[in-house]
Amino acid sequence: MLRHTFLYLSRQKAVQRFLLASAAARRVADRFVAGETLSQAAAVARELNSKGMLATLDHLGENVSTAPQAAAARDCYIETLAEIQHQEIRSGISIKLTQLGLDISEAECAANLEAVVQCAEETGSFVRVDMEGSAYTDRTLTLIKQVREKHRAVGAVIQAYLFRSEGDVRDLVSRGITIRLCKGAYNEPPSIAFASKADVDRNYAHLMRILLSNGVYHAIATHDPKMISETCRFAAECNVCKTAFEFQMLYGIRTDLQERLAHEGYRVRVYVPFGREWFAYFMRRLAERPANALFLLRNLLR
Ligand SMILES: Cc1cc2nc3c(=O)[nH]c(=O)nc-3n(C[C@H](O)[C@H](O)[C@H](O)COP(=O)(O)OP(=O)(O)OC[C@H]3O[C@@H](n4cnc5c(N)ncnc54)[C@H](O)[C@@H]3O)c2cc1C
Repeated sequence: MLRHTFLYLSRQKAVQRFLLASAAARRVADRFVAGETLSQAAAVARELNSKGMLATLDHLGENVSTAPQAAAARDCYIETLAEIQHQEIRSGISIKLTQLGLDISEAECAANLEAVVQCAEETGSFVRVDMEGSAYTDRTLTLIKQVREKHRAVGAVIQAYLFRSEGDVRDLVSRGITIRLCKGAYNEPPSIAFASKADVDRNYAHLMRILLSNGVYHAIATHDPKMISETCRFAAECNVCKTAFEFQMLYGIRTDLQERLAHEGYRVRVYVPFGREWFAYFMRRLAERPANALFLLRNLLR
């Protein structure tokens, strides 16, 4: 309920204007965002590498409304891939299709995605296509499947809160497409998504078992200690070795757990967002956890 209210408020223009102008909001957002520039994000990724972890760089931005903005996002990702290669960073990239123009033209978005994935393939890197709200699920999966027929360096994200996800998982794994499994961060109606945490967690564990049983390298993206221990237990029970999958977590969240898992020999990849368009990403992180929203409120009132 709080999450829905919060996501609703964050879409109101007055709230956006107020928070974007607030130094206190910016300070709180800094906990979740690596910086405004590529060089700041690259420094964070190098630091993660030095601790035995991998990274995926996300140049923040979504729902662009013009073709030049989408082309600029594509070029920024191509520059990011070149920097990853140049600095020999162990990192991929994470992108959103609405940042590459999905709201403008599907054909243009497909061309932008293909250009980025081709570059990732040539530089030995990887493109994970983030999953956005349910209005985009079908189009996102279709474009990924289309590009994956020509290039291997692309993977999908599946959200455990959607009823449809088991079908999508089975379809993607039958094509050998790697999946990042997450719980889901958008405001979805009860007609298409589980509303309670218990149901989402049950489906998450169910989908995790399908992924770990099918031989493709997948990513288990969560900070939830219960989901993580269930994954470790299931992997050990089924003789799935620690390097046959990876855990993924977000920059600034449960750093202790990230380091502990890496220390125990699991592969851990940290999602590192950077750039100036931090607002929508930050709002999703606040909505996930009431304590974050209260922390922001306390900072605003100080
Ligand atoms: C690498 C990665 C990529 C993702 N990509 C996508 C995507 O493409 N599409 C999408 O819809 N969602 C994505 N998500 C977000 C995901 O769907 C969840 O909203 C988010 O991860 C919170 O769920 P959880 O699995 O951590 O479990 P929860 O049950 O929500 O949280 C478990 C515990 O994790 C910690 N925690 C979780 N969230 C926060 C937070 N914001 N601040 C502080 N502590 C927190 C708390 O200790 C909490 O008790 C991604 C998540 C990760 C880790």
